Amino acid sequence: MITKDSIENLKTHLDIVSIISQFIELKKSGANFKACCPFHGEDTPSFVVSPVKQIYHCFGCGIGGDSIHFVMGYEKLSYPESLEKLSSMVNVALEYDSDYKQQDLLILTKINDYYQKLLVSQENASNYLQLRGISSASIAKFEIGYCSTSSDTIKFLKQNFLNLADAKEFGIIDSGQNGLYARFIERIIFPIYALNNKIVGFGGRTITGHNAKYINSPQTKIFNKSQLLYGYNLAKETIYKKNEIIITEGYLDVVMLHQAGFNNAVATLGTALTNSHLPILKRGEPRVIMAYDGDNAGLNAAYKASLLLTNNKSNFEGGVVIFTKDLDPADMVVQNRTEELNKMFLDAQPFSLFVIDFIINKFDTHTPFGKQNALKESNDYLNTLNPIYQDEYAKYIVSKLNVTRNMISTNVRRKNKVQLQQVDISELEIIKTILENEFLLDMTLNTIDINMFETHKEEFNMIINDKDNPILRGLLLNEDIKIYNEKQLKLKLIMMLVKFYEKKLEQIKYGQYEDKIKQIKYIQKYIIKLKMGILVPFKSN
Ligand SMILES: [Zn+2]
Repeated sequence: MITKDSIENLKTHLDIVSIISQFIELKKSGANFKACCPFHGEDTPSFVVSPVKQIYHCFGCGIGGDSIHFVMGYEKLSYPESLEKLSSMVNVALEYDSDYKQQDLLILTKINDYYQKLLVSQENASNYLQLRGISSASIAKFEIGYCSTSSDTIKFLKQNFLNLADAKEFGIIDSGQNGLYARFIERIIFPIYALNNKIVGFGGRTITGHNAKYINSPQTKIFNKSQLLYGYNLAKETIYKKNEIIITEGYLDVVMLHQAGFNNAVATLGTALTNSHLPILKRGEPRVIMAYDGDNAGLNAAYKASLLLTNNKSNFEGGVVIFTKDLDPADMVVQNRTEELNKMFLDAQPFSLFVIDFIINKFDTHTPFGKQNALKESNDYLNTLNPIYQDEYAKYIVSKLNVTRNMISTNVRRKNKVQLQQVDISELEIIKTILENEFLLDMTLNTIDINMFETHKEEFNMIINDKDNPILRGLLLNEDIKIYNEKQLKLKLIMMLVKFYEKKLEQIKYGQYEDKIKQIKYIQKYIIKLKMGILVPFKSN
């Protein structure tokens, strides 16, 4: 792990303009620099870099952040990888803490070499791979190996003076009542690489009929199944080039798909797709294809993955391919059905349609009761989607269930453009001002209430709860929005309070309130003080 101190030190050496200039051409524009956004196609520059704030922001696609974020996005690197890249760009060294040292990891590479050599000498193991149609080129590419008995592995570790404590820590061996034993016994071995191209664990398939067909390394400091995708290190380049990733359920599927030319295939490690996988999938924003088996387990997994990939927050493009019973992608490659596979991937069923079908299929829609439930559940799902898709998929539900469109309710809120008047600008100016100045932020929080904002409640709330939101970053770099000094801000807050109280007065005048007169007098007193220029803090009662 890179130490926090050395990251902070590196950050002080980063100048965002000179960093970004090394990747794209920036043109000076006022206090900032501009370019056509490298993350979305455009002809007029809406990508702004601020040397003062050391951030960038694209007004077209909303992407933005600091130098580190830029390198992550532009070079498709993980956070630590981009730190390493920046450290060499500005020639400032990083320090690593002793959580685990790079040389400790060598033990995984050495045991991997050993497994690979064993495969060559073990006829039953190489026969098995041959039988499955795996070519020797694939064996080399994926560094497929074989582990024999427990005592063989331990003998190898000891003879090569490898640290047994490390071997235990990284899940190669463990200790039980009878001493040390190897975790992988008589299995085909698939080394698993992390995003940084280092081996972090292994997957093993039994060839001697062991109970568990597949096992993986246990959870270790560096091996976390739900954050890894098998084959990603080899598939990465094609994923970016093709802008597509195929996610399968097994190691052999990945190996065989690559063998047939689908070099963008990866697999989850015997687990479902989880939230923790999403950061990897977001890299380069490829179309995602989930290629799953047609059994119940596969269908359920595809359903859950589709929910994960389509909810409003993630919103991935792509779809599901289901392999009919007794047929998996590996079998199809062996049978030379590559063209057919290609067509299946092209025709993947969009995630949302797959989910809606899955939901509707649970019910007997020939009965009114079943139809009603199918309608309700699919409508509930519809409302979790990004608003643009809701209308589109509402039509699909209409046709699938043969109901009328008005039976489906969407929660799409259409903001009325005409409403964007002066009030918006001054609300945004207040928000921008207090975003820049902590003292004025405190003053504002002590004086007004969020409900006094008419159109920009959400942004005001973000200052407190979601300060890194791109909307706020865009606001900071929007030169059309002014920043107030303390005196100007006070005046704006007073105007806001007066407006709020006057509205309240109206409500009281025309409403049914007890103590009407008393309340009116009370509020009028506030308004008078405010109009005299005294900033009286808001009290809810
Ligand atoms: Zn952009």
